Amino acid sequence: MNILVRLWRFLTGWWRRNPTLITAHRVGELPATLQPGKLYVEGEGSHIWSVALLCPCGCGHALQMNMLADTHPRWQLTIHEDATTTLYPSVWRQVGCRSHFFLRRGRVEWCAAVR
Ligand SMILES: [Zn+2]
Repeated sequence: MNILVRLWRFLTGWWRRNPTLITAHRVGELPATLQPGKLYVEGEGSHIWSVALLCPCGCGHALQMNMLADTHPRWQLTIHEDATTTLYPSVWRQVGCRSHFFLRRGRVEWCAAVR
């Protein structure tokens, strides 16, 4: 195989294998500064009351989602064996950057912008 083709496949393969997967980090309380690539899971034991992450668009805003059963809106969180996370439903910021995305297995899947 052409060395350039091999190099290209290696590089693009590396890129695909290394997206910044968002992983769960259990905290008793949200830290003042959030780190990209982390979904902060606030709660005790199996009781989770909120999750937070930095907006994946890079705008620097913290997004916080409520997980309490008797409130609305409310999200469902799945933490997979590899610590990646799935949030349901989508996260939609109504102000500022208006980011709208799904978080599935640690990957951000952007929704088409509706403006
Ligand atoms: Zn944003």
